[in-house]
Amino acid sequence: LPELPEVETIANGLARAIVGKTIDSAVVSLPKMVFPEPSTFERAVCGECVHAVGRRGKFIVISLASGRFLLVHLRMTGRLIVQPAGTIDLEPYTKVLLTFTDSSRMCFADVRQFGRMRLVEPEEPWVAEVGVEPLSEEFSIERFAALLAGRTTPIKVFLLDQRRIAGLGNIYACEALWEAGVKPSRPAGSIRRPAQQRLHAAIQSVLRRAIAMRGTSIDDYVDSEGLRGGFQNQLNAYGREGQTCSRCGKGIKRTILAQRGTWWCPGCQKI
Ligand SMILES: [Zn+2]
Repeated sequence: LPELPEVETIANGLARAIVGKTIDSAVVSLPKMVFPEPSTFERAVCGECVHAVGRRGKFIVISLASGRFLLVHLRMTGRLIVQPAGTIDLEPYTKVLLTFTDSSRMCFADVRQFGRMRLVEPEEPWVAEVGVEPLSEEFSIERFAALLAGRTTPIKVFLLDQRRIAGLGNIYACEALWEAGVKPSRPAGSIRRPAQQRLHAAIQSVLRRAIAMRGTSIDDYVDSEGLRGGFQNQLNAYGREGQTCSRCGKGIKRTILAQRGTWWCPGCQKI
């Protein structure tokens, strides 16, 4: 499912495609995928102009000229696909369709229907629920150390908690821990300074490299132009159970932490 690099890639593509466009109509065919309820939603977004498209954690943030936002969470299989004017077939599984005044359109499609699109008023404090951005200046080594302090949760589970650090999911948590040589089950608060620094640097480096490659396409992730990412060819741990560790030559193991598959190398992730 899309994590920070994939959501960032999608948001960048959407920004190129829809900023400056005005929504002419909205059609919701699956009520549970929008908030507020469909008829209110459809009426509220009509006539809105797209001011900017960005990302916060794993949310795509579509800023509207009125100061409101469309917050989109893609969850498992959600897709936002922009189709130029004159496209005949709708993207399969489209549940929310926004048509712009130039007749281009944005399809919010979702096979498994866990994705959500929410219209947020300017004063709603939605962002309070979302942790620090790992690629921001705010995410200093001191901030990271303070977040880790006293935490007994396994570091891998801690890294997935969106209220602490926003945007990491299973793929990049496993990759960052591999890169830093830190064992995923290690209690977060027990990691000492040199390893904290390595992990902090690894989180940022893995995310930056994955953004540069337009994300990881393991399952069916594609960006807003329908293109696959390239980082799946660079993975060192995630999904590589039984394969040889590229650093130490031992076999990559898969264990379960908090119900999630966790890939790591017992040979070189000892800390
Ligand atoms: Zn290894």
